Amino acid sequence: MTARSFGGKETAARLRASAAETVAALAAAGVAPRLAIVVATREESAAWYVRSLSGAAARLGIATDVTELPADAPADEITAALTALSADPAVHGIVLQAPLPAGLRLPEIAAAIATAKDVDGASPLSLGLLTAGLPTFAPATAQAVVQLLDFHGVDLAGRRVVVVGRSLVVGKPLALLLLGRDATVTVGHSRTADLASITRQAEVLVVAAGRRGLITAEHVRPGALVVDVGTNTAPDGSVAGDVDAAGVAAIAGGLSPVPGGVGPVTTAQLLLNTVTAAAGQAGLSSVRNEIRPPK
Ligand code: NAP
Repeated sequence: MTARSFGGKETAARLRASAAETVAALAAAGVAPRLAIVVATREESAAWYVRSLSGAAARLGIATDVTELPADAPADEITAALTALSADPAVHGIVLQAPLPAGLRLPEIAAAIATAKDVDGASPLSLGLLTAGLPTFAPATAQAVVQLLDFHGVDLAGRRVVVVGRSLVVGKPLALLLLGRDATVTVGHSRTADLASITRQAEVLVVAAGRRGLITAEHVRPGALVVDVGTNTAPDGSVAGDVDAAGVAAIAGGLSPVPGGVGPVTTAQLLLNTVTAAAGQAGLSSVRNEIRPPK
């Protein structure tokens, strides 16, 4: 068996097309959407991501403002920046770029982001609303995984899904979104005993551990769909996921590539969330951003 490739480029294009419709509706209402990105790290991978996000935003007609803080900025300096952006009516979405300075915890700092502008679902209030099943923005990467599966026509209801990783950015919110789709969800992590025996039960396996090559063919049930969220940059600059793609492609029914899988969908989702936030703040209640798989 050779796995079908669950690429993300077409899914991302559909999300961008939806965002572009909202940008046009906002322009007609005299609103220029604006995304603020707060950075307190000098990591090259974060700088690369911010450049890539800003470029993708510009192509859609979304302005970005990057606030660069020192890599050792104290908590109150970062929360002051987030509080000021939250109060600025010209700013519609706010992203707090990871990683944070050593010792700072993301949800504590992200609590300073106004919920209506929390387009990457980072604040504890957003995560609480998500848990309660109330309207909010979920973390864009978790949303992107569901969008990718939707686009490829995967019906999640009643399916056995295993998520590897329990971070607040990907694993936990993704488990909640999948439960919302009536999947039966198991979450694995670094203390999971005999991970392969758990992952082999999955009809859909999503891996977000940040460990290159963690998932090999022996972790995968024949015919399973495998979504690789991992983004691991080697010293030579090459990027690989958490899945041994060559080995797993021989046994899986579908596999998302890295790069070119969840990554571009995440960026598009974040921009879609930004214009949705702008529409909400502008009172354009007619804007819908529902994405369905192709007929
Ligand atoms: P994270 O905060 O480091 O969390 C990693 C999770 O994986 C933790 O829950 C950890 O378990 C678990 N884990 C680590 N080693 C494991 C192992 N050997 N076996 C089983 N579980 C293990 O990372 P993250 O922010 O969630 O990101 C995960 C990956 O996704 C990274 O490669 C990141 O670059 C990538 N990512 C990609 C996108 C995208 O758009 N494509 C966006 C965000 C993140 P414990 O909780 O027990 O420590």
